Amino acid sequence: MNRPAHLDLLLQPRPPSPLQEVRDERFERGGVRLVVKRDDLVHPELPGNKWRKLAPNLRAAVEGGYPSLLTFGGAYSNHLRATAAAGRLLALPTVGVVRGEELAGRPLNASLAQCVADGMRLHFVSRARYREKSDPALPAEAGAAEAYVVPEGGSNPLALTGCAELGRELAGAADVVAVACGTGGTLAGLAAGLGPGQRALGVPVLRGGFLAEEIRSLQAAAFGAPLGNWSLAEGFHHGGYARVPADLEAFAADFEARHRLPVERIYVAKLLFALASLAEAGAFPAGTTVAAVVTGRP
Ligand SMILES: *Cc1c(COP(=O)(O)O)cnc(C)c1O
Repeated sequence: MNRPAHLDLLLQPRPPSPLQEVRDERFERGGVRLVVKRDDLVHPELPGNKWRKLAPNLRAAVEGGYPSLLTFGGAYSNHLRATAAAGRLLALPTVGVVRGEELAGRPLNASLAQCVADGMRLHFVSRARYREKSDPALPAEAGAAEAYVVPEGGSNPLALTGCAELGRELAGAADVVAVACGTGGTLAGLAAGLGPGQRALGVPVLRGGFLAEEIRSLQAAAFGAPLGNWSLAEGFHHGGYARVPADLEAFAADFEARHRLPVERIYVAKLLFALASLAEAGAFPAGTTVAAVVTGRP
């Protein structure tokens, strides 16, 4: 098989992403040290946890000789965009099953337009049908019966093993490793890779209270049992997924200006806001090193 030159860049292990010190008085006042794990720099086209989760799946799809890759997402899904970019890099056809059949007749938003530009074929389904996305008949319906199927958000057992590597990169570097959660797959894998004495803290960006259960079942599927020391900091969703109220926007813009760190608004801003609030409330004992995982870029 004629492998594209950049295949190795996509599929081989990458050097650890950088760890950077952030000096911020909201943390320092309580004796807390903040470092950021720049996972947004881990791969030039597939930032952060999207690369962590996709790489082992792409490897399995390529090694298994699958003719295409099919996955699921909403109209603004970072996961769909990352999958489309990976498909272009690997010359592997991709199919995106998109929630909302009403979108089919309309001009594409920038995110879906990027997916199409990267060669992804979009298959729009009703919200009711989308809820049945584990139906084994769906890939055939989308014209990709033989595809390698990656679930919504990319969180399957292989994805968790990719995120466990992120945890291993942080062994010994922090007492608390914090990450924003959508599906919780990144937290589930990360927690499993941390060393003894370290704990993982997840900040859910969606409303709702089923995430802890979801994380336990993701871990059971991937590792056979719950692993690692982790918990969730609830109450920092700021109204729900993709909501960025003025106070959060102001916090994120200020953080960018102070620390010259690009702050992705849907996940990373909520993580940093939560950590600053918790530090100011004295939730971390003096002497604690907190690592915030920068899972993506704006
Ligand atoms: C997708 C995404 C997440 C959420 O990851 P999960 O594994 O679904 O919890 C976090 N941060 C960024 C920047 C993302 O794009």
